[in-house]
Amino acid sequence: MKFISTRGEAPAISFEGAMLAALASDGGLYLPEAWPRLKPGDIAALAGLDYADAAYRVMRPYLEGDPCLDDLEAVLEEAYDSFHHPAVAPLQQIAPNMFLLELFHGPTLAFKDLAMQVVARLMNRALLRQGVHATVIGATSGDTGAAAIEAFRGLEAIDIFILHPKGRISDVQRRQMTTVSEPNVYNIAVEGNFDDCQSILKGLLGDEGLRASRALTGVNSINFARILAQIPYYFTAAVSLGAPQREVAFTVPTGNFGDIFAGYAARAMGLPVARLVIATNLNDSLPRALSTGIYEPKGVIATSSPSMDIQLASNFERLLFELAGRDASRVRALMGELRKTGAFRLNDAELEALRGLFAAHSIDEHATEMTIRGLAEETGMLADPHSAVGIAAARQETGLGTTPMIVLATAHAAKFPEAVERASGRVPEQPERLRLRLGQHERCTVLPNDYAKVADFVAGHSRTRDGAKEIRSKVRA
Ligand SMILES: *Cc1c(COP(=O)(O)O)cnc(C)c1O
Repeated sequence: MKFISTRGEAPAISFEGAMLAALASDGGLYLPEAWPRLKPGDIAALAGLDYADAAYRVMRPYLEGDPCLDDLEAVLEEAYDSFHHPAVAPLQQIAPNMFLLELFHGPTLAFKDLAMQVVARLMNRALLRQGVHATVIGATSGDTGAAAIEAFRGLEAIDIFILHPKGRISDVQRRQMTTVSEPNVYNIAVEGNFDDCQSILKGLLGDEGLRASRALTGVNSINFARILAQIPYYFTAAVSLGAPQREVAFTVPTGNFGDIFAGYAARAMGLPVARLVIATNLNDSLPRALSTGIYEPKGVIATSSPSMDIQLASNFERLLFELAGRDASRVRALMGELRKTGAFRLNDAELEALRGLFAAHSIDEHATEMTIRGLAEETGMLADPHSAVGIAAARQETGLGTTPMIVLATAHAAKFPEAVERASGRVPEQPERLRLRLGQHERCTVLPNDYAKVADFVAGHSRTRDGAKEIRSKVRA
């Protein structure tokens, strides 16, 4: 299987290449050259398997002929061993025809663990095989950084640097990142806001010298490997409810459009998905695009579901490529338009294709709060604000008849205790693993909002490619 860029001007490469590069050289995002299909019998055979085994069968076709395929089985076993539920991604029924898919049983209590735990290990093994070293850098407003640090800590072939805006993330979020003691982890608190962190990150990734000497790469959700590792739970959930004989629908709390795009991929592989509902908070660029055909990201609004406080959904470009019949020149034109004017308009065929499968609802803060309260009263369960946005959007969706609706629960309520208590009057219980960690010593470097200072720090602390050879011999020994 080869991977191609949505902008059509970068060479097709292997899965391993796409994973290590993250972004294509033409600025586009990687997608498989064709979607692999699972036969109905293959889908039915996923029923009752261990999560790691099911994930292997779903992901394997993408890695056919790739050196990473030999690692996949062991990586999945190890990755999901760290989860605190034997089913990894269990389903809970919350209404006659509505189910929550709990994706928060990983080490940092958010759905990003499901993919990050897999991708970090695949990257590490690929680098060890090549005898080289890489430096992962990222900027976070909360969940992504914690999941990335947890997944990459202690890996032999990778150093990880995560920038966060000093004093602007929650206590739990900061401590999840800074209480890690492994020497390959660097937390940088930038004296600025999240946008400042992102612009420093863009500068670092665009610095050819640094990129080459330190083998810089990223792990945000534009990396196709992350999308790939999110496809399996769509299959396992649907099969539990009777797929492939029975259709299902999904509602996905959405920010960067990575998670829901994995649902699109599952359908492209043959899973009978009747509808994909995009659930957003007040940051409603996607619901507006569905209703008007115009995609026009506006200023970001801060909400109680901060991991979805995104207007420019990077992975939407992947769907555009599909809606446009995989015409890369059309994607280039639309993305150019967006850069120049801040918006673009879908044509009739694209809009029809979009509306044929997707629906979208924007949920305000009051409705989010009422949903948390209502669910607690009706079922005794506590939902975090991101999952609550999903539940509220699913309830607005009509016309599905008896098709079961599966809402993705993307974070544990204990990650957002203030918002949950405000809405429900109850304090979510902290899992013990979180309590223990949060009391530990914090490690973090405070740097000014100054590109050169951050670049110096990264260059001065990351290991070079030569260092990787030594590491490799130690690991082998
Ligand atoms: C990242 C995140 C989302 C949004 O996922 P995307 O793939 O960016 O759409 C939703 N909920 C939580 C808790 C998250 O951390």
